[in-house]
Amino acid sequence: MKKPIQFNTKTIHGGQEPDASYGAVMPPIYQTSTYAQAAPGDHKGYEYSRTHNPTRTALEKNLASIENGRYGLAFASGLAAIDAVMKLLQPGDEVVSSNDLYGGSYRLFVKIFETMGIRFHFVDLTQPEAVFQKINEKTKLIWIETPTNPMMRVVDIASYVRLAKDLDIMIAVDNTFASPYLQQPLDLGVDIVMHSATKYLAGHSDLILGTLVVNDDTLHEKLAFIQNASGAVPGPMDCFLTLRGIKTLAVRMQRHCENATKIAKFLAEHSTIEKVYWPGFDSHPQHDIAKAQMRDYGAMLSFVSKGADFEKTTRILKKFTLFTLAESLGGVESLVGHPASMTHASIPKAMREEQGVVDGLIRLSVGIEAVSDLIQDLEQAIG
Ligand SMILES: *Cc1c(COP(=O)(O)O)cnc(C)c1O
Repeated sequence: MKKPIQFNTKTIHGGQEPDASYGAVMPPIYQTSTYAQAAPGDHKGYEYSRTHNPTRTALEKNLASIENGRYGLAFASGLAAIDAVMKLLQPGDEVVSSNDLYGGSYRLFVKIFETMGIRFHFVDLTQPEAVFQKINEKTKLIWIETPTNPMMRVVDIASYVRLAKDLDIMIAVDNTFASPYLQQPLDLGVDIVMHSATKYLAGHSDLILGTLVVNDDTLHEKLAFIQNASGAVPGPMDCFLTLRGIKTLAVRMQRHCENATKIAKFLAEHSTIEKVYWPGFDSHPQHDIAKAQMRDYGAMLSFVSKGADFEKTTRILKKFTLFTLAESLGGVESLVGHPASMTHASIPKAMREEQGVVDGLIRLSVGIEAVSDLIQDLEQAIG
């Protein structure tokens, strides 16, 4: 097959050929742990499914294709993928990351890897001087999330690639919020792209899966070694479902972004709303970076109602009928979340509030339903 070029062609064809056995157009779900060998060591490239599985291979090739990378790796969850990256480090190494980070990543860094001797600095990555101050000869990794969760700050990825250029520092981007439809960090020169495919990639809130994509041979070898040695791999069924989800990524993202744009504007103009955080507004502090770095502004946004304390916010959250109150994001259905008590509950209150994650903050993952129905639901909940 001719190599797909355009993004929306890669999502559908990347890494996928009709199956050699029977011509199945969709990659079969190879629900097997092991593979027959004709003689010891004489096999067809597959020996044991922790190491390799043909359905996973199809997904890994597809991931590489849509992120414009050379190698994809699939893991049992987004956090398992991050865990594999952290296992590249040694005690004494240091990491600089965001002070506005996905709660689970923060917990993994502080509660697991800090106790093993890796040191983390959490700073505002929109302020390169703050990062510069934390960098020393022990710094091995800068872990970026953009847009950030839940404050929707936008980090200038290329500026960190420039900063790390002559230093022995890897740059990794958690690209979950944007998806490769909106931004492709490997093209900007980063070393590792990570996804919680649980979100936009799979897109239907029906599985947990994580991914890494890299270009460098040695880095790929090390990560593939960790993937097999630690063993946090996804099953073939989840790989199949992720592949199926990715086929519609581009069309889903278009509608996600269209709906979010209308909802962000509706909220910003509403008399009961104090503040809306969304990178598409001209007034957003990193709007210009978002405009240059992203194809569109994404479908995640947060807002605060006027005078909203914990009780008032709880009342609003209970009124939603179409938006479902739930953790997670990136599915076709719209979700509403309360970062302070849900995704960010594991971050200390003082640190959380310093970042703007106040009790009144509500986060939306805007789905692809009819936007008029979504606006009606918001209207009755906040009104
Ligand atoms: C959900 C999420 C993760 C963790 O992924 P899981 O698949 O839940 O393990 C990491 N980063 C971001 C930005 C996320 O939203």
